[in-house]
Amino acid sequence: MEKILIIGANGQLGTELSAALQKKYGQEAVIGSDIRKPQEENSIFELLDVLDGEALLSSIKKHKITQIYHLAAILSAKGEENPKQTWNINMNGLLNVLEIAQQEKLNKIYYPSSIAVFGTSTPSPAPQYTSMNPSTIYGISKRAGEQWCEYYFNKYNVDVRSLRYPGLISYKTLPGGGTTDYAVDIFYKAVEATKFSCFLEENTRLPMMYMPDAVRATLELMEAEKDKLSTHEGYNLNAFDCTPKELYEEIKKHIPTLEIEYKIDKLRQSIADSWSDTVDDSVARKDWNWQHQYDMESTTKDMLLHLKNKLTLQK
Ligand code: NAD
Repeated sequence: MEKILIIGANGQLGTELSAALQKKYGQEAVIGSDIRKPQEENSIFELLDVLDGEALLSSIKKHKITQIYHLAAILSAKGEENPKQTWNINMNGLLNVLEIAQQEKLNKIYYPSSIAVFGTSTPSPAPQYTSMNPSTIYGISKRAGEQWCEYYFNKYNVDVRSLRYPGLISYKTLPGGGTTDYAVDIFYKAVEATKFSCFLEENTRLPMMYMPDAVRATLELMEAEKDKLSTHEGYNLNAFDCTPKELYEEIKKHIPTLEIEYKIDKLRQSIADSWSDTVDDSVARKDWNWQHQYDMESTTKDMLLHLKNKLTLQK
């Protein structure tokens, strides 16, 4: 029987992945952990800092863990506020996980990577194997992390799997300080009937994905047969790409009163400009049959529906 530890379970991805894993494996089989307590404690939870290797090991022994989903990280824009701390958390957290996975012979490890591994030298669409010169400490740590994963797979046979997510759009938990966060905030402002102030220029194109696709991709990769996987670095993963202007115009079809202004944040604009505007995910499609379900139109429709319900219930 699998026992799963999720590290960073209270974040934008963790809250939704936890629910999906509980549905698949049962509530008792999934242990959430984070440095912050969850808002609702409706599952098994451990307050845990991934940098504390001893506490991590004791938690793994206590719960007889067989798989780890290691999501804890400092994201792109927030990471630039304190590069050394970002490197420490993103890198040494992963090394603790990989080392314990090897020692304790865990079955599988999941490590999320990002389109932040790409840089200005990467062609568009970004190929699976390509030139990468990440411009942020977040991107540098994710690229190094991918390579550590491949290293542990080759040298110690640790079955670690990884996806390079695009910007994730979701309504359950707010994003934690990335460069694509505008694509979540715009939906809140639309539903709250407030003018939206966009920190990126109107024609900045970036790859995006709706959370249900991201969660399904993660579960499908983790269930794929090991010998079908041609890489244990991050798989490129794509659904759609859009600019702030295109997303605004799509939302306006549903909420015609939405207004937008552009107040450019230099840091996040320069990060966005360094990333690929679209990604070639044909290797994921070939190796484990990846297919996205949500494009910009269906993401917009579903986001607005759920967000309206959520914000009405909160009133
Ligand atoms: P998030 O910031 O919303 O959540 C990260 C969680 O990690 C937070 O709950 C935080 O409290 C926790 N955490 C931070 N430091 C910790 C530590 N030392 N020990 C334990 N927990 C700690 O991030 P997210 O959006 O949920 O992202 C999850 C993963 O997916 C990250 O690795 C991120 O790089 C990757 N990713 C996210 C996106 C996106 O658009 N959200 C895109 C690409 C990749």
